[in-house]
Amino acid sequence: MKRIFFVIVLLLFSALVLISCREQENSKEDKEYQQEELVEKEQIEEPKVEEKEITLSAIGDILLHKRVFDDAKTETGYDFTPFFEKIKPYLNDTTITMANQETMIGGTKIGLSDYPSFNSPQEIGDTLKQVGVDVVTIANNHTLDRGEKAIQSAIDHWKAIDMVYTGAYQSREDSKRIRVVETDEGIDVAFLSYTYGTNGIPVPEGKEYLVNLIEKEKIATDVKEAEKISDAIVLSYHFGTENQRMPNPEQVDLAQYAADLGVDVVIGHHPHVLQPVDWLRGEKGNKTFVIYSLANFISGQDEFYNRIGGVVKVTIKKTIKEEEETITVEQPKFLPTYMEYKPKFKDFKVIPMKDLNNDIMPGYQKYYEEIKAHMSQWMPELEFME
Ligand SMILES: [Zn+2]
Repeated sequence: MKRIFFVIVLLLFSALVLISCREQENSKEDKEYQQEELVEKEQIEEPKVEEKEITLSAIGDILLHKRVFDDAKTETGYDFTPFFEKIKPYLNDTTITMANQETMIGGTKIGLSDYPSFNSPQEIGDTLKQVGVDVVTIANNHTLDRGEKAIQSAIDHWKAIDMVYTGAYQSREDSKRIRVVETDEGIDVAFLSYTYGTNGIPVPEGKEYLVNLIEKEKIATDVKEAEKISDAIVLSYHFGTENQRMPNPEQVDLAQYAADLGVDVVIGHHPHVLQPVDWLRGEKGNKTFVIYSLANFISGQDEFYNRIGGVVKVTIKKTIKEEEETITVEQPKFLPTYMEYKPKFKDFKVIPMKDLNNDIMPGYQKYYEEIKAHMSQWMPELEFME
C-alpha cells in the first residue's frame, strides 16, 4: 500500500514537472511572439525615409553679336561646337542643364542681325542640344527685337530639336502649358522665365503669350500652377542693372518674392556681369537658392568683366517620409568661365578660369581668386569646381 502511494506521488510529481516545463516553454514562445510584435510595432512607428536627388546646372546669356556668329560661319552654315569644346564636360554631367538664349534664333531665312535688334543662327540651338542643354529660357529684353516672325521661327526650331523652351510662346495655348522636366529619379522640375521688359518694343496687343513679363500677379499664378504638377520650381528673371556687379534693391525684392512663393531656385541674368549667390528664407520657412546674375556665357562684348561667366550647379533632393515630401536645394557649386578669342574675334572658346594660363590672361590667378571671393561673399560654403 505504501509502495502504491509512493508511485502515485511520484507520477503526480512527474506530471507537475512536465506541466511546469510546458508552461515555461509556452511562456518562452509567448515572449518571442511578443518580441516579434514589438519589432513590427517599432517598424510601424518609425516610418521609412526615402531620398532621391538630381543635379541642375545653369549657364548665363548666349548673346550672339555679329562678330560671334561670323566666327562660327562655315561653308554651309554655322557651327558653334568649337566654342563649347572646353566647357562641354561641365554641361553634360548634370541631370538637367539650362541656358539663357538671349537672342532669338529666327535663323538665316529671316536675315541674321546684330545689336541692337538681334536675330541669330538656328545652329546655336543644335549645339546647345548637343552639349547637354535641356531647357532654354527665352524671356529676355531682346525677345521682341525682330517681332513675332523671329519668335515663331525660333520656336519652330526649338520644337524640331525637342528642346524645352520657357518664357516666350507661339500661342495662348502654348503659354498656358507650364514646362516640367520629368526625371528618371522621380523628381519633376518646373521651369518659369520672365523679363523686366522688351527694350521699349510694345508686346503686340492680344499676343501677350509672345513674352513673359515680370508681373508679380502672373508669377504667383504660374507658381501655384507649377506647384500642382511638379516637385521643384526653378524661376529665371531677366533683370537688374547692366554692368553692375551687385544686385539692385528691385532684384533683391523680386528674388525674395519668388522665395516667399515657395520657388526653390532663382536664376538671374541680364547685367552681363556676375552677381553673387545667396540663400533666401521664404515666408513658409523654405530655403531658396539664388544667383542674382549669371552674366554672359557667350557674347561679343569685349570688356573684361563681360567676358567672365560661369556654370552654377545645385543638387535638388526630395525626401519622402510617410505622406510628406520635402524638397531641399543643396551643395551649391560654381565654375567661373572666361570667353576667350584670338585677335579680330577669331576662335571663340569658353574656358574654365581654373584652366587659364598667363599667355591667355597674364596674372589670371589673381582675377580668378577675385571672382571666387565676389561670388561667395554671402555664401562662404559655395564650392568651386576645381
Ligand atoms: Zn538682357
